[in-house]
Amino acid sequence: MKKTLIDTGVKPYNHYGAYLKEKYNGQRVFKVIVDGGFTCPNRDGTKGYGGCTYCNVDAFTPETARKTPDIREQVEEGFRRAVKHYRADKIIIYFQPNTNTYAPAHYLKMMYDEALSIYPEHTVGLSVGTRPDCLDFEKIALLESYTDRYDVDVELGMESIHNGTLERINRACTHEEFVNALKLLENSPIDVCIHTIFGFPWETKEMMLAYAEEINRFPQIKFLKLHHLYISEGSIMGVKYKRNPFPLFTMEGYAEFLSEFIPLLRPDIILQRIFSLSDLDLLIAPDWGMKKAGIQSYLDKSLERNNAIQGSKYSIGLPVK
Ligand code: SF4
Repeated sequence: MKKTLIDTGVKPYNHYGAYLKEKYNGQRVFKVIVDGGFTCPNRDGTKGYGGCTYCNVDAFTPETARKTPDIREQVEEGFRRAVKHYRADKIIIYFQPNTNTYAPAHYLKMMYDEALSIYPEHTVGLSVGTRPDCLDFEKIALLESYTDRYDVDVELGMESIHNGTLERINRACTHEEFVNALKLLENSPIDVCIHTIFGFPWETKEMMLAYAEEINRFPQIKFLKLHHLYISEGSIMGVKYKRNPFPLFTMEGYAEFLSEFIPLLRPDIILQRIFSLSDLDLLIAPDWGMKKAGIQSYLDKSLERNNAIQGSKYSIGLPVK
């Protein structure tokens, strides 16, 4: 049977696996998720209460990190799993749940230092997920102080470029605040990763396709995580959805959407993810009836079939003012 590009490991977009392989000379590099016990200003009342309506922090935190607050134990367990299941050679410490710069810089340093110190021979990176409104010069300087020893990236939730959507999802952060955070990271040695969500039921296809041009404007964006909207137990949207279900992407519909979106993206951006899954026990909808590998393969094959090559419809956007 004729092999497709996907069968040979080549994808029609710049994907993170290939990037890591090349960067680390074929060594297997995996992220170890760490829960630093941070909270979120959109939950504790500083910016808002209740959090973003789609958010259930537990939905994107693995069992081990959820039940093990001790950083050393989390890193040791994460490393053991990465070696056992994926024969990992190296790890990236990934502070993922909640807002991982939401504390004074000296406290952040203590947390990052501890996690990085546990497997010094095997640790190559530090990845920190946060809100755009929780970064300032001091925290950026702290993160930059690690860049002589580690690859450091900061992951910012953009979610949507439309303030109307950000308001409706109780994001308590405008797109302008997101752009300001990007400006703080201009010319920094820190890599920037952006997180987006597609499929808010009130956003049209044109509104979602417009994300691409906005992302393309910022050369400091190196990585991108594309997610479809899913509804989790424990989220405000979950309660609303159960009362009154609304349309969500089918897998086929999402594949068609990605086939239009990915060609619009700047060709140098590296896609860390093109969809996301929560723990199945927390997932309310959409249930695409497949495991992660099956969905990945379906989406990749659809992109190839549709000749949806990243950058093939990219047009240079307006310079950032
Ligand atoms: S998605 Fe992030 S910013 Fe929003 S409530 Fe959850 S942890 Fe906070």
